[in-house]
Amino acid sequence: MKKILFVTSEAHPLIKTGGLADVSSSLPKALSTLGQDVRLVLPNYGSLKLDNEVHLHSTFSLGSHTVKLLETKLPDSTVPVLLVDCPEYFAMAGNPYVDAFGHSYPNNAERFALFCRVAIEIAMNRVELDWKPDVVHCNDWQTGLVPALLSLEYQCPPTVFTIHNMAYQGLFSGITAAALQLPSQLLSQDGLEFHGMISFIKGGIAYADKITTVSPTYAQEIQTPEFGYGLEGLLIYRNDDLVGIINGIDAEWNPEIDHLIAHTYSSYSLENKVKNKIALQTHLNLPKDENVLVLGLISRLVEQKGIDLLLDCLQELLTLPVQIVILGSGDKGFEHRLQQFAAAYTHKMSLTLGYNESLAHSIEAGVDVFLMPSRFEPCGLNQMYSQRYGTLPIVRKTGGLADTVIDTLPESIVEGTATGFIFNDEHAGALLEAIKRAMLVHNIPQVWQQLQTNAMHGDFSWKNSAEQYLALYESIE
Ligand code: ADP
Repeated sequence: MKKILFVTSEAHPLIKTGGLADVSSSLPKALSTLGQDVRLVLPNYGSLKLDNEVHLHSTFSLGSHTVKLLETKLPDSTVPVLLVDCPEYFAMAGNPYVDAFGHSYPNNAERFALFCRVAIEIAMNRVELDWKPDVVHCNDWQTGLVPALLSLEYQCPPTVFTIHNMAYQGLFSGITAAALQLPSQLLSQDGLEFHGMISFIKGGIAYADKITTVSPTYAQEIQTPEFGYGLEGLLIYRNDDLVGIINGIDAEWNPEIDHLIAHTYSSYSLENKVKNKIALQTHLNLPKDENVLVLGLISRLVEQKGIDLLLDCLQELLTLPVQIVILGSGDKGFEHRLQQFAAAYTHKMSLTLGYNESLAHSIEAGVDVFLMPSRFEPCGLNQMYSQRYGTLPIVRKTGGLADTVIDTLPESIVEGTATGFIFNDEHAGALLEAIKRAMLVHNIPQVWQQLQTNAMHGDFSWKNSAEQYLALYESIE
């Protein structure tokens, strides 16, 4: 049994701003199910949604701060969560990183440096827990100082650093760096220094024993200038210690037991998927038609997700015999352009602006094809949910999308491996061509059903991912 300290700045359902929160609850739970002793450490934000009992573990001083270590459990599990309580840094309600106007808190460097320092105290068994981890698993820039600071400790446990999105780096000015009073040996060009600033994410990348990211293709992509944001050289240097491990999906995304959909189904009862299509069309006031190809998209409406690629071919797409269902929110310009199309094509297009978990499930169950024309996608979830629901994804060949979808080609049809449609160019024409390919295949029901069955039988479980992390922990004993 491995003792794993999982250091993270968010964990669902306690606090969530993005996919990191999902990984930070699902992976520890899956590791715990595999018999591992895993404990989370998280800041005690004012906005944490705490249902379980919280008790005080210990109180200690760190620099000029008095820190309390609280302990609770991750909801619906036995996984312990240690909460770093330091009200002057974490007590504010709302988002953990930015204020109500979306501006980063001016003391983020100090806040997360303190969080990292407490994680070091826990990792080195200096907080009366009587527990020393065999491995410390850190996530994203907020925890990047942990591998750096731990490297200076005598008999320190090995570290794993996971990059969930390279786009967020935790860059701070030299003046802030001085205020943090970090040991000078960490501030060199081989360490935290980045063009006259300090980079928290670089601490993770430079000092962790192993680096992971959330898909094998993204692990390659971040070694290029386009995706590496200036750290591609270091990532190439650390290439032997860098691996991509695809995230799993939660058990609630399962059409056999999903209570948010009109009719449950499996690969053996695909006729019930058609009933979900009719239910969705009825719900969204689209013409009821079980034969028309229905395309779905659920996403943050931002440039990363390639929404402009869809917009640039939407006019032509809407002349084809398809329906399109969109759920999302984000960039106001994209929202406005989509609204204009939806108003002009009420019989073919449904647009729901906002966040709606229940509708997201109904769309996954009810549409035939799911669109993900992303510019970059470290892992992506919806392409995996879609496959689980027999909804064939159309994806751009990037990151986790490239790793989890098998393109429909003559060979992959014969081999019984095809699960969706892949296009390469970051261009509306390439997306439209992939949609047209899907339309052709949709006209051959036996082939379409075979693709649905292939997709539904894929293993996207957290157990699978957790076993890969465990093998990695074992490789750095
Ligand atoms: P990212 O984390 O970059 O937004 P992912 O594909 O990894 O992209 O995960 C996005 C998750 O958020 C998916 O579960 C998706 O269904 C969900 N989601 C995004 N927008 C909405 C929305 N408007 N309503 C419901 N769920 C949404």
